[in-house]
Amino acid sequence: MMTTLDSPPLGLLLADIVRGHRPRTEAGSVPANIPHLQSPPFDRFGIAVATTSGEVFRSGDADLPFSIQSISKVFTLAMALSADDSGSLWSRVLREPSGTSFNSLVQLEVEHGIPRNPFINSGALVVTDHLMERSPDAAAQVLRFLTGQVGQPGPFIDEIAARSELSSSSRNLALAHFLKEFGNLRRPAQAVVENYVRQCSIMMTCVEVAKAGLFLAQDGRGAQGAVISRSEAKRIGSIMLTCGMYDAAGEFAYRVGLPGKSGVGGGILAIVPGECAICVWSPRLDSKGNSLAGTAALADLSDRTGWSIF
Ligand code: GLU
Repeated sequence: MMTTLDSPPLGLLLADIVRGHRPRTEAGSVPANIPHLQSPPFDRFGIAVATTSGEVFRSGDADLPFSIQSISKVFTLAMALSADDSGSLWSRVLREPSGTSFNSLVQLEVEHGIPRNPFINSGALVVTDHLMERSPDAAAQVLRFLTGQVGQPGPFIDEIAARSELSSSSRNLALAHFLKEFGNLRRPAQAVVENYVRQCSIMMTCVEVAKAGLFLAQDGRGAQGAVISRSEAKRIGSIMLTCGMYDAAGEFAYRVGLPGKSGVGGGILAIVPGECAICVWSPRLDSKGNSLAGTAALADLSDRTGWSIF
């Protein structure tokens, strides 16, 4: 595992990152519309690094499950691209940063039902719809995929949380109905949103997310062989860099210099191509929906290790 010469061994470095970044005060916010995301204490902070040489380093609350939320969108995209029929996906969703909030309705209407990218909610709904062609229980497919990459049971769908989120999913339903109206959704809007919310409600630890994301750091090769091709791994990394952090992707690229994907559960998956996958989790969010402490910790880690794609 390569780090810069003056940085301590990775285990010690992660412990130091936890000491420096675990929140001491209740700064930041939690999503008002998703009740279960309000329960983790503000001072939870975990980080894990899974390396391409097969090691896993962890510190802090790295073994506590959290709600992966939009980090799931990276995995559903990889699954959709790994299927033989993936050619058609890119006629249904673009690959441009949106510059608007992740659940914006306005842009979708102006752009005739073609979402800007697969990481905003409308784009992720299209990807979920695409996966439902293979099996109507897309969320179960995602869970199987994640369990396979982690190598042991661990990830689970918090069905109670999903039901509660579903009862306040009017906006996602509105997006799905817009997509349907524009002919860009094949399954019923309600069924797609249900699968989407269940995939977002998957609970995983930092260690599990880092292990599951490792295929993106090693040319598409995961725990059970090739998930996607090397070119597709490069492309997903590019979409993470430009679209992975809501409308703060530019700021994250500036501060961290790595492809990343965040979720409103407070998790962030970051990829160091050829080296490792990193997952950091701390539940309080900044105004754009990204983990406040998690982003600061990744900026610090990349400065101290030299990990960056630039
Ligand atoms: N389930 C959340 C929603 O659809 C995911 C949001 C996110 O993590 O970006 O609003």
